[in-house]
Amino acid sequence: MKFRDRIARFMYGRYGTDELYRFLFIAFYVVFILNLFIRSIILSALSLAILIWATYRSFSKNIYGRRAENAKYLKIKNSFVNFFKLQKNKWRDRKTHVYRKCPTCGAVLRLPKKKGIHTARCPGCSNNFEVKV
Ligand SMILES: [Zn+2]
Repeated sequence: MKFRDRIARFMYGRYGTDELYRFLFIAFYVVFILNLFIRSIILSALSLAILIWATYRSFSKNIYGRRAENAKYLKIKNSFVNFFKLQKNKWRDRKTHVYRKCPTCGAVLRLPKKKGIHTARCPGCSNNFEVKV
C-alpha cells in the first residue's frame, strides 16, 4: 500500500479542521512566541496543552462531539463580533439614530433620533413600547 493511501485510510472518518482548530492554532502560536520572551513553565505547558487539544480534535472520530464544541466556540466568538459591530454602528449613526433594546425579546432596534417620547414597534415580536430620546 502506498504511503498516500495509508494516510487517506488513517484520516477516513476523522474530524479534520474547523474554525475552533484555526483559533487554537493561532492561540498556540501566540502563547509559543510569548514564551520565547517570558520564559515560563506555565506558558510552555499551556502551549503544549493547546497543541495536543487541537491535534486530538482533528484526529477524533467523535464528529458530533467535535461539531458541538465548534458550535459553542462560534456562539462565543459571534457574541464578541456582534458586540463590537454594534458599538461601531452606534458610533457611525450617533447623530441620526439611537439604538434601543426591545424589553420583550431583547432585539436591538435602530430608531431615528427625534427628541421626545415615542412608541416603537419591534419587528421581531410585534411588541409596542415607549422610547424616550
Ligand atoms: Zn421584540
